Amino acid sequence: MTAERLSIDTLIIGAGQAGIAMSEHLGKLGVPHLVVERDRIAERWRTCRWDSLVANGPAWHDRFPNMEFEGLDPDAFAGKDQVAEYFEAYARKVDAPIRTGVEVTGVARREGRPGFMIETSDGTIEANRLVVATGPFQRPVIPPIAPRDANLTQLHSADYRNPAQLPEGAVLVVGAGSSGVQIADEMQRAGRKVYLSVGAHDRPPRAYRNRDFCWWLGVLGEWDKEVATPGREHVTIAVSGAYGGQTIDFRRLAHQGMTLVGLTKSFDNGVVSFEQDLAANLKRGDENLMSLLDAADAYVTRTGIDLPEDPEARSIPSDPECVTHPLAELDLAKAGVNSIIWATGYAVDFSWLHVDAFDAKGKPQHQRGVSKEPGLYFLGLPWLSRRASSFIWGVWHDAKHIADHIVTQRKYLAYRDASQRQQDARRAHDGNATDAACDEPHARKVNEMGVN
Ligand SMILES: Cc1cc2nc3c(=O)[nH]c(=O)nc-3n(C[C@H](O)[C@H](O)[C@H](O)COP(=O)(O)OP(=O)(O)OC[C@H]3O[C@@H](n4cnc5c(N)ncnc54)[C@H](O)[C@@H]3O)c2cc1C
Repeated sequence: MTAERLSIDTLIIGAGQAGIAMSEHLGKLGVPHLVVERDRIAERWRTCRWDSLVANGPAWHDRFPNMEFEGLDPDAFAGKDQVAEYFEAYARKVDAPIRTGVEVTGVARREGRPGFMIETSDGTIEANRLVVATGPFQRPVIPPIAPRDANLTQLHSADYRNPAQLPEGAVLVVGAGSSGVQIADEMQRAGRKVYLSVGAHDRPPRAYRNRDFCWWLGVLGEWDKEVATPGREHVTIAVSGAYGGQTIDFRRLAHQGMTLVGLTKSFDNGVVSFEQDLAANLKRGDENLMSLLDAADAYVTRTGIDLPEDPEARSIPSDPECVTHPLAELDLAKAGVNSIIWATGYAVDFSWLHVDAFDAKGKPQHQRGVSKEPGLYFLGLPWLSRRASSFIWGVWHDAKHIADHIVTQRKYLAYRDASQRQQDARRAHDGNATDAACDEPHARKVNEMGVN
């Protein structure tokens, strides 16, 4: 991109899966657009995940509808680099106009006319429409209770790579969603003593009656749920495709030597305190697992589908000592803990987006991604339209909805009333024709030019 001012109908910010899906749909519908990405295509899959990470869903499921993973068994779990390569290949396949190495630093509405002025690391871009596809998980969050102790190595799961990265010694992993439990398991397999702090979680079976849980959530309509169950909006899902894909079983990990503890409450003088909620959290996770098995059985009965019974999926190991006699606190030095991994989630960061699109708490206001700020769209956010929205197989469908909305809006703005049509006809007759097809102020040239 040159430092000159660039004009485009629709600008997409971010070339992760969301930005690529958006580009595919806009391309098919003939909407001139450009994708800008500050790093590389699918950067978060390349450099913001630990080395051994594989997708949480099998390759037949965790993909876009129009392309399979090449050379990968459909039931296998793609490694993070394979996922990044997949999206790079997909972007080539759909001929997505992506400019990498361009960071958006500020967005403001254009004065007195629709559209936006977008400041980037490579000059200003003007766009009639803007799709913000900068990710559901942007800024790693470490809670304020984290101790200020120079003797402790502390990192967020976004910065964790492998066990060798941490000094010798025991590890406390805070958070037992998919990231926390997988990292804790990997540390334990590497011979470390691990303490895992377990909060509220859902714990689906990896597979049941010869079907992966992704399949069950699909046929049971769970991915399509439009709102989270009240009270469970922030409940994390503990699931893993690692080691061929196994059901997360906290008690089994404890029987193998891991010490489970409740929610991490506070740190004081090298001593960490835990809530006494471990057994309750495990129980709720078990209930979630059983409810999915029950729903699956009911589906089999109702549809008569031929899937073998699977009673083993219902067996739950006995409660280990750390559950029956949970730790209330732990002296980190005495326990040899010199590292803490915070698997405590992410926040979004829209501080660069200076438009009227947020509520008082800074949360994007939108309906299925269509912002209350005309011409602005969000894509890829958790629960944007439904449960699947932030995942690979969900974002593609949300992108389609947004692309359709953009096309419809372009049609409205192209409308000419009778007097304008007469004017256009007169101009054409006078040989002074301009494009009469678009009444969007100042947008006409931009629409025609596409990327310049
Ligand atoms: C550890 C982990 C594992 C996951 N595993 C799975 C899984 O197995 N299956 C699944 O379906 N989902 C998974 N997800 C969820 C989701 O699929 C990923 O978070 C995915 O990366 C989201 O894609 P995205 O395109 O919406 O956002 P991102 O991948 O975050 O892409 C956003 C892009 O925008 C760019 N960007 C941001 N700000 C700017 C700016 N100002 N200017 C220019 N560019 C910018 C970023 O560089 C980035 O490339 C996982 C998430 C995490 C954290």
